[in-house]
Amino acid sequence: MNVQRRPLVAANWKMNPATEAEALALARAVAERVAGVRVTTVVCAPTIWLAAISRALGPELGVGAQTMAAEERGAFTGETSPLMLQGLAEWVILGHSERRRYDGETDEGVGRKVASAVAHGLHPIAAIGERIGERQAGETEAVIDRQLRAALGSLERIAGAGLAIAYEPVWAIGTGNAASGVDAQAAAAQIRAILREHDPAGADEVPVLYGGSVTATNAAEFFGQPDVDGALVGGASLDADGFAAIVRAAAEAMG
Ligand code: PEP
Repeated sequence: MNVQRRPLVAANWKMNPATEAEALALARAVAERVAGVRVTTVVCAPTIWLAAISRALGPELGVGAQTMAAEERGAFTGETSPLMLQGLAEWVILGHSERRRYDGETDEGVGRKVASAVAHGLHPIAAIGERIGERQAGETEAVIDRQLRAALGSLERIAGAGLAIAYEPVWAIGTGNAASGVDAQAAAAQIRAILREHDPAGADEVPVLYGGSVTATNAAEFFGQPDVDGALVGGASLDADGFAAIVRAAAEAMG
């Protein structure tokens, strides 16, 4: 982890929990446990719970959405626009592999969403990563290159954009089969190099996260890597104690 960048640990609750009361209880429990820890901690909740959570929480915890339309308004049934998120969320995950897989999100579409989020003052967490077949075919670097360049495509400058990138190998998400620290570092270094090519002045601002079966047990391995600045955490973020332990591991690795 680079000490110039404050670590960022984001929870991706996915389609959980099922009720507002549970969502509020989880958000409050996380906020209590991470208070005072010098890590930017964000909970990316289902859109329907964002209003309640953002009303209930103070500044100790960031609030994020899990997706967003690029457009401000119009005939996009079921979608949420960046205008609607303003005031409810400061962050938004874009291009998660589950959105790419189940909702047909494309590299180009993710690029448009990233640019739209930045234009509307939201911090995008752009998720990229290879599928198992691509890894087995030796295409990991090519996939990272293609997806990252597309995600940055419509952004003129990275400096001041408030962007984060999450390297999430698809085969590691929700499988318990996390990447190794060495693989996460290699991907993060490649991502940093592409960011520098795109905007040398802004590249070093961008936190590069690892995501894929991160737990309190393995988190330190990722946070010990020089180019990994934090984590995007799915399953393990639904337990406040386990998630807070990951956040503390990030703080320890930075100190
Ligand atoms: C994710 O959904 O972004 C994720 C990393 O999930 P998990 O931690 O469960 O692998």
